Amino acid sequence: MAPSEFQVCDQDLPEDLFGLYSQAPQLALDTETMGLIPHRDRLCLVQICDPQGVVTVVRIHQGQTQAPRLQQLLEAPAVLKVFHYARFDIATLSHHLGIRVRPLFCTKIASKLARTYSPRHGLKEVVWELEGIELDKSAQSSDWGNSTKLSPQQLRYAANDVRYLLPVQAKLRQMLIREGRWELAERCFATLPLLADLDLLQYQNLFEH
Ligand code: MN
Repeated sequence: MAPSEFQVCDQDLPEDLFGLYSQAPQLALDTETMGLIPHRDRLCLVQICDPQGVVTVVRIHQGQTQAPRLQQLLEAPAVLKVFHYARFDIATLSHHLGIRVRPLFCTKIASKLARTYSPRHGLKEVVWELEGIELDKSAQSSDWGNSTKLSPQQLRYAANDVRYLLPVQAKLRQMLIREGRWELAERCFATLPLLADLDLLQYQNLFEH
């Protein structure tokens, strides 16, 4: 598959891609939704990229409540799931598809812990600094709800959001190890399911005085 290519499938992964992705030690993941409030805004896409760069965009249909192969993959203990700002994606995957994603690596948390010289931890900034690639985010706030008629530009955007995540993760991991913050990062990643559950219950500032 050429570096810019990806495949699109409906509702769940086909058997062959499920088998391929299940062999990977880590996978890059992202979601596209109708908005930032899981109870209000439905999940439209789940994007996956493996270490060889095989990208799949799974279209989630309106009213869909499960995706068995996706669930088995995202809950597989041997496959590390890498997100940028995992807290949101795992909350929406839990709410809409009942998937309890684990184990986790969040490149945004890793960037904040390692790149203390920068105030900029958006995916675009991190991919630009660590990979030298300029992500086109112009389709970020677009209508993801019309899943059968997404434009080539939207699909390319969705695919590119996962394409550079694993190289970024590897570099951030090395930086965290170098700076003595790897163990701290792992403890942060381990609390993400708790934070996502609290977000879904709409608790705010639970740990404040
Ligand atoms: Mn995205």
